[in-house]
Amino acid sequence: MSSSTIAVEQGRETGSKPQPGPILLLGAPGVGKGTQAKELVKLWGIPQISTGDLLRANVARGTALGRAAKELMGRGELVPDSLVNEMVAARLKEPDAVNGYILDGFPRTLGQAHWLDGRLASEGQVLPVIAVSIQVDYNQLLRRITGRRNCPVCASIYNLFMNPPRRDGFCDVESAALVQRADDTEQVFKERMRAYAGLTAPVVDHYRALGRFAEVDGDRPIAAIAAGIVTAVERLRK
Ligand code: AMP
Repeated sequence: MSSSTIAVEQGRETGSKPQPGPILLLGAPGVGKGTQAKELVKLWGIPQISTGDLLRANVARGTALGRAAKELMGRGELVPDSLVNEMVAARLKEPDAVNGYILDGFPRTLGQAHWLDGRLASEGQVLPVIAVSIQVDYNQLLRRITGRRNCPVCASIYNLFMNPPRRDGFCDVESAALVQRADDTEQVFKERMRAYAGLTAPVVDHYRALGRFAEVDGDRPIAAIAAGIVTAVERLRK
């Protein structure tokens, strides 16, 4: 077991909560940002803020934002910065975000990154943001996306190829019938990858240039990736 894996396990056992501050999880669709965010929530006790989840919740509730976002999301295109930034601004004001948060899927454009940088600077955040990009190759991502199934009750994530539920089609925890996201098809995946390469890759370069950036190999067991992220964050916080 690596030292950082031990750190993850010890964090769980003792409930120790080092303050990591704001963390950005970057990476192409399907690299495991959501899965890793949930691991880090358990370890650090700061919330996961997934813009994809927040947008899907707005679509499900039929809000004005949800109505504006629905078609774009269905096509694998990005929702306009102004709408997403406003949604994130509201979420960051909630009290659970005061000691830090894990932004999962945001920022996805340079406009969003500059907005976030400006916002953090104006708030005089004690800890600067750290960006971690998870890397997985294209064919692996395709399998992950097309095999992904979610529990609508507890949000557990499965994969038909790599992490199937014990009973085909049903959640291990809730026994609910698993669902597939409408945008987890091969065709929409390709559009999401185009959006990633064109709009999100420059965000990675932005944080790399600021020197508060790490890349981790996402083609490993979940705990090993989480340990890699923890090690990177600890190194960058020194
Ligand atoms: P995700 O769950 O992160 O894969 O996001 C699903 C979809 O929500 C994306 O394909 C976009 O249409 C939209 N979305 C999520 N986050 C953002 C963001 N930061 N900016 C613009 N659109 C987003």
